[in-house]
Amino acid sequence: MSKQLAKWDSVGILLTYWCNAACAHCYENSSPRCRHTMSLDQVRDCLRQLRQLGCKGAALHFAGGEPFYDYGLLIDSFRAARDELLLPLGKLETNAFWCTDDDLVRQRLTEIRDLGLIELLISSDVFHQEFIPIERVQRAVRIGREVLGDQGVRVRSSEFLQNPIDPTTLTNEQRDDAFRCALIQREERMLGRAARALSHLVDRHPKEAFANTDCHREILLTRHFHIDPYGHIFPCVCAGLILGNVKTADLATFHETFNCDERPVSRTLIDHGPLPLFEEALRHGLQEDPAGYASQCHLCYEARTFFRRQGMYPDEIGPDEIYAAD
Ligand code: SF4
Repeated sequence: MSKQLAKWDSVGILLTYWCNAACAHCYENSSPRCRHTMSLDQVRDCLRQLRQLGCKGAALHFAGGEPFYDYGLLIDSFRAARDELLLPLGKLETNAFWCTDDDLVRQRLTEIRDLGLIELLISSDVFHQEFIPIERVQRAVRIGREVLGDQGVRVRSSEFLQNPIDPTTLTNEQRDDAFRCALIQREERMLGRAARALSHLVDRHPKEAFANTDCHREILLTRHFHIDPYGHIFPCVCAGLILGNVKTADLATFHETFNCDERPVSRTLIDHGPLPLFEEALRHGLQEDPAGYASQCHLCYEARTFFRRQGMYPDEIGPDEIYAAD
């Protein structure tokens, strides 16, 4: 079995961990308390390295947290992408929290369109709408289509936007039911806040149910990566599992020389999945949850959270934002 990283097809640059919201399904654990944001120099460096690696602008996206947190940085990041000939950018994600006024939305989206964006991806679901009034999402979609065209705007999920519910009017029981329905329609990664806030709403299984799995495909064969505001490199679905850092090695060298044998957490996950890692955490004092675990990623996250809090494997498990309890 190859131990090489697959060629990267697409990369998400997480400009900040900050978010106005603290959605129950957020696998990055973003919230208003998370302040760490990339500097413009870091964004520039990252884009330069991605271009040198052969990435195209259409395969890149700016995300967060909420990338509209610092609009000046966002626009400067687009300009930096232009300087690297990486525009139009493939995708920009937002939850539309900032869409309080038609003129403001039109002005910002026109500026972004003129720089070069292929798709604005707007989040809308029962989790986001605990924090963001649906009118802001509707405004973002309406003006987004006017400015960027129908093909330039995508809503996740458009079904919810057509028949929205306001979770802030629900009782706790109704809210749990609404969350359960959403989880049936779309499986969420049980990492970060999702592990704490949602895993009790889905079927759980004893840890042994996750024996005989491995994460070779998710770590080595994935073609989609994220780079966080600290420069950490995460495989697409494994937030908080650090494979390297753009600040310490350029991406081309990192990609070419990545050796999982030098990274014990990754190596165990690639070869055997999360169960051996979880059993190691048990031997160090982690208490097993008798209710079980929602998925192999949930089991993985619980083991990693324990190690993070014990100060173990700091080069592979971090940053604090992803492992912090609210
Ligand atoms: S179990 Fe861990 S390493 Fe494997 S895919 Fe899930 S988060 Fe990634």
